Amino acid sequence: MILLRDIIGHDEIIKTLQGALASGRVAHAYLFSGPRGVGKHTTAVAFARALVCLRPAGGDACGECDGCGKVDLGIHPDVRIIRPGGATVKISQIRELAAGLQFGPATGRWTVRILDEADAMTPEAANSLLKTLEDPLPGVVFILVTARPQAVLPTILSRCQHIYFHPLGKSGLVQGMIRITGAPEDKVQLAAALAGGSLGKALDLLSGGLSARDRACRLIAGLTAADVEDALSLAGEAAAGKEEVLPLLDMMVLWFRDILLYNETGDTGSFVNADRQIDITGLAGCYTTGRLLDIIEDIERAKNSLTASANVQLALEALFLRLAGFGPESGRLEGVI
Ligand SMILES: [Zn+2]
Repeated sequence: MILLRDIIGHDEIIKTLQGALASGRVAHAYLFSGPRGVGKHTTAVAFARALVCLRPAGGDACGECDGCGKVDLGIHPDVRIIRPGGATVKISQIRELAAGLQFGPATGRWTVRILDEADAMTPEAANSLLKTLEDPLPGVVFILVTARPQAVLPTILSRCQHIYFHPLGKSGLVQGMIRITGAPEDKVQLAAALAGGSLGKALDLLSGGLSARDRACRLIAGLTAADVEDALSLAGEAAAGKEEVLPLLDMMVLWFRDILLYNETGDTGSFVNADRQIDITGLAGCYTTGRLLDIIEDIERAKNSLTASANVQLALEALFLRLAGFGPESGRLEGVI
């Protein structure tokens, strides 16, 4: 069970929320925004727990009472959490979120509704939520959680207290991960460096044995000497499914970023992949700076198109052909197609 005081790296936010709890001046609706995996959802649940705790102290939950326990089990009558059912949050889910609010809390002073991935609401769902927010009931607290606040209706945003969660600094991540996992510091340091400020991502990396990073370096090594057939076959290998492809592409960007850094500065001290210096410096001669910048841009573009539901296999084939040097401007395609 994670309490507000356990949240890592967001001291100002926690102070704001604890201040609201202590004074009783809790907003009717909050929007927690920020990158994935930085602790928005965890903070929302911890805040909900502090609101419904039967023995709150110092602006936080006790962590031991019946109320705290029920939040942890997901069975507290006054705390409901809704996540997208499939790709979108539907109007029926917003109705479910708002159901029974008029009767007031069953156990204490507050009723809390958390909506994860609030940007995924259908227009009908968003309008339905807007109506609920326009007519606030006393004691009801909505917490909308999103990594894409720009995709939430401005009329909804304007009714929420907006709280932005920054990416976590590396030292905050390391400290948090050691506390949560008890893993050795060198492994934690590496996962934190690769995670770009996301605690969730860093924990995934740690538990997944850094397999996306290992696959990324194998693919990059393969692509440096690939012909068209090899590039297409590596793309097929990588197209295992969206959920695994995006972390893989993230790792490829970090790998090329280290090569770029080495080419430009000769410095290995700031490598993200600090444990793979020999592999990276060995590849440095294969790429010019201009080519590395193009590659990083190509990968970012492929990531965006995948987020927009493009065909994974096709997107990766096009990308891997370019990474292997078969771009339209490279001349390598002549005589091949
Ligand atoms: Zn409690």
